[in-house]
Amino acid sequence: MLFSIASKGCCVPDNTSDLLRRYLEQRREAGERELVLDDLKVEDVMRIVGAKNWLNAAPAEPPAPSPSPVLADTGGAAPIVVGKAGADLFGGTMASLDSLEAVAAHAAACKRCALWSTATNCVPGEGSPNAQLVCVGEAPGEQEDLSGRPFVGKAGQLLTKILAAIDLKREDVFICNVLKHRPPLNRNPLPDEVTACSPYLVRQIELIRPRVILAFGTFAAQTLLETKLSIGKLRGTLHQYYGVPLIVTYHPAALLRNPAWKRPTWDDVQHARRILDRTGDGA
Ligand code: URA
Repeated sequence: MLFSIASKGCCVPDNTSDLLRRYLEQRREAGERELVLDDLKVEDVMRIVGAKNWLNAAPAEPPAPSPSPVLADTGGAAPIVVGKAGADLFGGTMASLDSLEAVAAHAAACKRCALWSTATNCVPGEGSPNAQLVCVGEAPGEQEDLSGRPFVGKAGQLLTKILAAIDLKREDVFICNVLKHRPPLNRNPLPDEVTACSPYLVRQIELIRPRVILAFGTFAAQTLLETKLSIGKLRGTLHQYYGVPLIVTYHPAALLRNPAWKRPTWDDVQHARRILDRTGDGA
């Protein structure tokens, strides 16, 4: 019999299709011939596909602790594995990281892509483990690489003001990036780097369980939503990420170049504020 999926009463949104494909591959390799998702809700599918099976699939070795990234021999970098194996890569290891500190320590020793070898510091993210809002940017820049803290350069100062505009302090929220190490000369992240690094972001969001995610800029939005749609198309819609409401807005660095985008950004962050206000206890 062909491997099949029954999905009566359950609608799988487009942005889960890649995770679902990986999940189905894992189940097929495990010998299953039929998977019934009858009567599951979207959130259930996302939770099963995303959190349980994608992240907790196969046991994996933790990366070997690295010496100082600056001094380390780049020849030792682990090969990057993409696609199905990328989903397995962190497997049980990622699920065993039961605090943001543990995620940060693991990321700091990570050699899943080569960025550790050119970065000065890992920038895992910072903020409250109880944050109701998670801000996701692209990757650390120069100042972030030097300090080990996210969004501390000019764009970061603007982010601090944007948060203040919705009555939030940096320490109330959690601020992080898709990539945890700086790409050399701030070049765009490569697909393999995203594949290698994004399980850290998924785990951070899983641990924090925020009420809303703000994706800053095209890259964060396209990565989180697994789409190539432009930011113009992604803005103005309330998306979902593993069941968490996600709002796309312009990157603060883009606002510095184009102040005309401040107004739409204001609208977007007000939307996030309204969701927080609706769902309970503020930040
Ligand atoms: N830009 C980002 O996307 N992230 C940072 O941390 C800094 C600048």
